[in-house]
Amino acid sequence: MSLVVRGAIKDYDWGIIDGLIRWAGESTNAPQAELWYGIHPGGPSPLVDSKGEATGDDLARHFDVESIPLLVKLLAAAKPLSVQVHPNKALAASGYAAQQSGEESRRVFSDPFEKTELLVALQDFEAFAGWRDKQQAIEFLTAIEALNAGLDLTSAKSHLAGGNFKAALPLLIEANSSVVVSSMAVAAKNIGLDGAQVRAYETVIAEYSNDAGALITPLLAYLFLAKGEAVFLPAGVPHSYIRGIGVEVMTSSDNVVRLGLTNKPVFVDHALTAINDELHPQIMRVGIGDLIWPVNAPFVVRLLESGSERMPKGAYRIALAIEGKSTIVFEDAEITIHPGTAAVMSAEDPDAEVQAHGLVAVIQSTILTQH
Ligand SMILES: [Zn+2]
Repeated sequence: MSLVVRGAIKDYDWGIIDGLIRWAGESTNAPQAELWYGIHPGGPSPLVDSKGEATGDDLARHFDVESIPLLVKLLAAAKPLSVQVHPNKALAASGYAAQQSGEESRRVFSDPFEKTELLVALQDFEAFAGWRDKQQAIEFLTAIEALNAGLDLTSAKSHLAGGNFKAALPLLIEANSSVVVSSMAVAAKNIGLDGAQVRAYETVIAEYSNDAGALITPLLAYLFLAKGEAVFLPAGVPHSYIRGIGVEVMTSSDNVVRLGLTNKPVFVDHALTAINDELHPQIMRVGIGDLIWPVNAPFVVRLLESGSERMPKGAYRIALAIEGKSTIVFEDAEITIHPGTAAVMSAEDPDAEVQAHGLVAVIQSTILTQH
């Protein structure tokens, strides 16, 4: 009827040491970056029994992507994640097909699916998301030039003036050097950006001064989210999470095209194709208990601390316990979820209601299954 899972853990180097221990259930004495709840082949979720013990089975053996179209993650970032963009449906499908046929020899796409994502902050969360205000981005580059004799970013700035951020990217990658990158924090201060932003650039410098894509970050808008607030990133919007812990909800895809701040492969050509300057982040200044329903998102999310929420049959649903225990009540049964475990319901599973006794993330697909 409903399966209970734990997250599949990812130990990426940007994670927080034991940062997800409350939900992973164990110390690894190493970075804990993400816990995955879903059926993606990159990390299908282990099933657990009523005592929370792993059964040796996993969710992907029971469901496919049609039944479980969403991937939910708990994420803990100690330092900036790569500057990245996700492909839309058409690009992911054609790009993945080109790889399968050998036409594209590099491994750029992990699967043929679009990735749109929502990040809900569980504590103070910082990110770069979408483009910075045009005038401010130009001012920022001018301030960087002023600190680096001989550096000429005129062409990049004229692209920005014309609203074409994409065209400025290859020029900034070309102009990149560790010396130029190291001047970003002072330049941020010189144009009057606040302390949090200056610190964000200091972090980028400390971690990535030799990174080929670091000089892209002045073009990105800085975003601070308090607990319960969220940002929705449609496919095509560049972003980089800086620091914090949050719940991420996305279509079941791991397609990440990177531009910088990473040891992983960077594909500037594919990233430029994937970026859609018409789309912007949707920043949601909401709180615990409010419905998070971004425009054009294939899901709705609500964080509950008390009270209840209906999860009717007909669409995929998942309830992930974050603090305390919550109960999933069916007509003739109920199950309890503990921090780090989630109840997963396919469209065919019966109507359910979540009763929150502590923080729980309730996520429902808006794609209804026809019968
Ligand atoms: Zn992303």
